[in-house]
Formats: sequence, structure tokens, C-alpha cells
Amino acid sequence: MNSATLNNSGCLLCGADLVYREQAYSLSCALCGEKLMTHAACANGHFICDRCHSLSALDLIEQTCNASADIDPLRLAVALMANPNIKMHGPEHHYLVPAVLITAWCAVSGDESKGEKLAIARKRAEDVKGGFCGFHGTCGAAMGAGVACSVLTGATPLAREEWRLSNLMTAACLTAIGEAGGPRCCKRDTFLALLTARNFLNRHLNAGLPEGSLPVCSFSANNRECLAAGCSFYPATAHKG
Ligand SMILES: [Zn+2]
Ligand SMILES: [Zn+2]
Repeated sequence: MNSATLNNSGCLLCGADLVYREQAYSLSCALCGEKLMTHAACANGHFICDRCHSLSALDLIEQTCNASADIDPLRLAVALMANPNIKMHGPEHHYLVPAVLITAWCAVSGDESKGEKLAIARKRAEDVKGGFCGFHGTCGAAMGAGVACSVLTGATPLAREEWRLSNLMTAACLTAIGEAGGPRCCKRDTFLALLTARNFLNRHLNAGLPEGSLPVCSFSANNRECLAAGCSFYPATAHKG
């Protein structure tokens, strides 16, 4: 596969490097819109104010996705993960997955109900608690992909095709995550869920999401249980074959 490499770097919104200027200048925050003086913005001109930088993980994900027009869910997820409010492991990943999928879907399709969809997905993802992977046999990142499919197709417990697709989506992600094996890693499991979900949305719903990018993990030093060379996103092993 001819893959673009994704590393987490500067900008929360797009991942581009930050550019610092000696003189402060006035810019509007890309998330809340407030005009403030700053010394730094990313290479694409995004500035994010200190208050937005310290939002709770779920607020940060929702507001960033509301402001983003990224068509690549993997790239957006990697940019978001760089924020320290998104922990190495934690249930915020259960919302991160549907949020970036919905954002990319809406960016490609021109769907204007993104804000409403992000809010619905957040409510549902909040029901998926930490530790579901080991205790319930159902990784929350995979459930997040099922939430995305349900929201995007408008599935309900009584739907037929939408119900089928939403359950198949979770199943496909769980298969990828289960086959990679434990112990849990919210980065690895999120990457696997997003890669699987992106392809699923393209195959079954013609989402038109770009398929080139593969994440390279930069979090292994923060993960005591990292599989290192046993993980396909570990820097030394990524992109081999
Ligand atoms: Zn940016
Ligand atoms: Zn702000």
C-alpha cells in the first residue's frame, strides 16, 4: 500500500507544525472564535486559545470535530490524541472514534447536520464505560464505530438494513481488535477500529473517505503494556509489508 505516514505533531485541528512569531499578533481561535493575541499558529493558520486547549476530553473532541473539515478520520484522530487531555487509555476514545468518522463523512458528503450527529454520538458513546473490552468482551472503540454507523444510517432497534450494517460494523472492528490480541491499548484499538470502519463505510455506504493513510504510533513510551514490535503501529514495525 502506498501509505502516507501519520504522526502526531503540532496543530490540534490538522496536525500541521506550529509556527512561532517573535511579535504577538491577533487571531481568532479556531474552536471558539474568540479574537486574542498569540505568538503561534499552525502552518495552515489555525490558532487554538488556552481555554480551548484545557477543555475536557469530550468537549475538546466535540468542538474540534465541529470546527474541522478533515476528510481523513485517521489524521484527525492522531491530531486530537496529541492533546494531553486525551489520556493514553480512557473511555474518551469511545467518542473519539465516532466523532472523527462523522466529521470525515460530513466533510466528504456535504451533510450539514454534523453538529447534531456529533451530539447524538456523544450521548451514546458516554454509555460505553472504560474496561468494557476486558470485562464485557466488547472494546469501546469498536462500539464507537457501531455508534457512527448507527448515527450515519439512522438505525434504530426496529430498522432492517441500517440495523444489519451497524452490527456488522461493530463486528468487523471487534474482529480486527480481537485478532490483534490484548492487553488493551486504546491507541492500537482506536487505530484498528478507524481503519476497519473507514473501509467499511467506503465499501457499504460509498463514503468516499481517503484510504492512503496509516498511523504510526508515538505513544509507546507512555504505555507500560505496549506490545512494541508485536504491534503493527509501532514505529519500527509500521509499514513493513
Ligand atoms: Zn492546523
Ligand atoms: Zn478558543
